[in-house]
Amino acid sequence: MPTLGVSIRHDDLLSALHREGVETLLSGFTACPGLFYATSAQDGILSRLRIPGGILNSKQCQAIAEIADMHGGGYVDVTNRANLQIREISQGISSEVLQQLQDLGIGSHNSAIDHIRNIMTSPTAGIDPEELIDTLALVKSWDAYLAEHSELSELSAKFSVCFDGGGKVSVSDRLNDILLRAELIDAQVYFRLHLGFIKRKPPIDTEIILLPEQCLSILAALADVYLQHTDTQLKRKPRLQEVINSLGWENYLQQVEQRLTFSLQRCQQLVQPPSPATKEAGFWHIGIHPQRQQNLFYIGVVLPLGRLETQQLRRLGDLTEKYSNGTIRLTPWQNLLITDIPQECVIDVQREIADLGLDFTVTNIKSALVACSGKRGCAASATDTKAHALALADYLETHVKLDRPINIHFSGCAKSCAQHHTGDITLLGVSDRNIESYHIYVGDSDSHEKFGRKIYQDVSFTELPAIIEQILKVYKIYSLNSGEPFEKFVNRYENAQLQESFSQPS
Ligand code: SF4
Repeated sequence: MPTLGVSIRHDDLLSALHREGVETLLSGFTACPGLFYATSAQDGILSRLRIPGGILNSKQCQAIAEIADMHGGGYVDVTNRANLQIREISQGISSEVLQQLQDLGIGSHNSAIDHIRNIMTSPTAGIDPEELIDTLALVKSWDAYLAEHSELSELSAKFSVCFDGGGKVSVSDRLNDILLRAELIDAQVYFRLHLGFIKRKPPIDTEIILLPEQCLSILAALADVYLQHTDTQLKRKPRLQEVINSLGWENYLQQVEQRLTFSLQRCQQLVQPPSPATKEAGFWHIGIHPQRQQNLFYIGVVLPLGRLETQQLRRLGDLTEKYSNGTIRLTPWQNLLITDIPQECVIDVQREIADLGLDFTVTNIKSALVACSGKRGCAASATDTKAHALALADYLETHVKLDRPINIHFSGCAKSCAQHHTGDITLLGVSDRNIESYHIYVGDSDSHEKFGRKIYQDVSFTELPAIIEQILKVYKIYSLNSGEPFEKFVNRYENAQLQESFSQPS
């Protein structure tokens, strides 16, 4: 049984940073960035700020904006794990500045574990009127446990944990190694353990149910079994799913149980099946919503491709001090929430958001726009995905009015880092005789195509906006009043029928 409550060790890495300065940091590039683990990207050095639960206070907002101005590109990007990235770092961040960030609670107290993936939970934890349990205490506990156990720095950097409190804004379909999802069984809240067995698929139900107070122990045991069966000298550590698959999941879970002081309970039947993971579910947090706390509201703000200019970040921090509880919450959909707004202040906050050049309407084309790093950030990319995505969204905003969010996903290569599920419309970058072009996919993936059905190929970026406009207009006409989601609409037709209807003037 792993022990809890060991005191925090001031780790070797931070000491080295203090002794030798930032050059040590910048020479030690890793594949998985963190505040203390810089990574080289096409556009400079990339630093990722690990923010468990995605909650930032206004002082942290100001400090991060300062760093991004002084050392980076003058902006920050929210990632699909609700981290923040500072990009285009050309000059080193001194160890003193890193220490100041740590003192403000940014990054882990123990920098040795700072490269391990951010702990995910619903951005509405504690405020969602439908949730069964507030998961923020569990996020904090697991983060503290990681920081207190330096041996866990040997875990794969991709070792990822997610807590879902069973609310409306669910994170259960996000890619994680371990998901603990709340459900109600005989009036008692349990967490159902899900493990990621299959590459690039959400975690799968193990039928094990746990009381909230048992969650930390099982996470510690899952980590301990991983370490026992992993050569920690390996440069590339295996993913948890690889170790589970090589041991066999039943064997793995038996070894987990041997480390626990309680027996594992199993419940085959899902007492409360999760609501189907529709594409639109990822956008329920956008807009103005009542909280579980009376007279308080939260507003989900659209960040185009997750980007915030530093002056926007500063002003958001100020705004939360003035009207709410002084914090913002980053979401795994690369947007943010302003929470705890008294009803009488909602209109003022709406106005301030608009003054910042931001929006909070779910039908804004940018609310469901996703792009990977693209050419500027990744050598594998065939196209400048981010610039193209924003240019397309700007064009569509003036040519089509949407009634519901449509997920448009730009990917610079077939790896699809930015989004694991099929988009409503996926644009896969290809370089065709040095012309940046896209294959266009719609609807469900089939056995041949993971992005959906390919309806056009090698479309140059200059041709793209008119084609997407036509696709959206045809969908609007044919789904009028039916409320039919885009995906269902396109799945009703053969490719040739779709191509024909998209080529007709609407
Ligand atoms: S999807 Fe491909 S091009 Fe885009 S960031 Fe990932 S590896 Fe790079």
